Amino acid sequence: MKQGYADQAAARAALVRIQEKLAAKRSSRAMPVRVYPCDRCLGWHTTAKRQKRMAAWDKDPGWDRTSEEIARIDALLRNEVRSQL
Ligand SMILES: [Zn+2]
Repeated sequence: MKQGYADQAAARAALVRIQEKLAAKRSSRAMPVRVYPCDRCLGWHTTAKRQKRMAAWDKDPGWDRTSEEIARIDALLRNEVRSQL
């Protein structure tokens, strides 16, 4: 999980920390504004990109992938690893 967070709560906590840090430093680095679930590593990331449509997790901090969704992504990732061997 490259720079990813285990779940939405961890990503949101990190988002606030990063925002505070950047604000304190008056950094010109793009300020992350949202979190999103990553299908590449099954973790969560922060992003500075805004989205036109609010995603389910933007509205609900308790939102999580369904176990079916996790199983589907997990199978995809495993297939990908196998094809690289
Ligand atoms: Zn990822």
